[in-house]
Amino acid sequence: MFRAMRRTTSTFFKPSNASLHKLASSQVSFSSHVFPSTVDLNLIGRCNLNCTWCWGPDHQAAEPISLNKWKELVTDLQKKGTKSVIITGGEPLLKRWLPDLIKYIKTDLNMRVTLSTNGILLRRRAKDILPYVDDLGLPLDGPSNDINKIMRIGKFDHFDIVLDAIKHVQTEYPQIDLTVRTVVARPNMEFVPEIGKVLLDAGVNPEKFRWKLYQVNPIGPRKKDILEGNWLISLAEFNHIIEKAKKLNPKLNICAQPYDRHAGRYFMIFPDGATHVIDKGPDGFPCERPLGNVFEDMEKVIKNLFNQSYLANNDSHGVTLNDSSSAFSEYRPRRYQK
Ligand code: SF4
Repeated sequence: MFRAMRRTTSTFFKPSNASLHKLASSQVSFSSHVFPSTVDLNLIGRCNLNCTWCWGPDHQAAEPISLNKWKELVTDLQKKGTKSVIITGGEPLLKRWLPDLIKYIKTDLNMRVTLSTNGILLRRRAKDILPYVDDLGLPLDGPSNDINKIMRIGKFDHFDIVLDAIKHVQTEYPQIDLTVRTVVARPNMEFVPEIGKVLLDAGVNPEKFRWKLYQVNPIGPRKKDILEGNWLISLAEFNHIIEKAKKLNPKLNICAQPYDRHAGRYFMIFPDGATHVIDKGPDGFPCERPLGNVFEDMEKVIKNLFNQSYLANNDSHGVTLNDSSSAFSEYRPRRYQK
């Protein structure tokens, strides 16, 4: 995955003041339109890659939820206002029953389906999965296998695999909106602008193709590794890379997401049913705020959703964010200090 953080943004239902008061008194029926329109389903923590900066669930996370339970949950989410799901992980294609779930969500529930995968198993499982996918996110963090492997750590020639997958999708599944996602961190930043050019030179069609660049995000079980390793870059450095990428690749649809735009944008359900929203932590970096487990106490999750101040403060994504460069300069790991 790359949660990739893949992905698209979650838009939250904006409650009226009256409904907030009702919720506060716990006397309301949670029947419809109380859930974010887009929900991330982190089906699995495991992955066949081992990216140092991974912000997915812990790779050892338990996966006690059966296929039928996930189906029941998504059916319920739709009744509560969710219109689209992002299937992610870990690596969701490691789930054997994934085609069954995706087919159900697309054909039975008629919801929009985004799949965020690292792409390694995509060619092998394409026929069973891609007919039911509207949006596909694939990661590429370098313009060659060698650079990409600095970021996407594992035994695979990940760059070649993803390039092949992109061409296959564009040829066989032209209805899919494709996004290539790139995490920009210190080890790969100088090489990032070349990625777009390499893709175009290799014959990738810039139509129905988006390239999204993410500032590496210090969050999740590996936050310490990101902060104490040489991974973090400042907002100014990130913006500089975006400008270079746009200059070098004028034909490409390029968008950028600094980590301070994550707060309020993602509502995630983890492999065991635990939910999190992304908020801004006391250190200025994004943090995961737990809201409860949807399989154990759905009403508690809904109440916590409404109780989050960012839901009440903003029509779409919530909090007004500060410049992330301030968080960067406050933290300043020793190795960055001159
Ligand atoms: S290890 Fe890498 S590919 Fe796997 S989930 Fe984490 S970021 Fe995604």
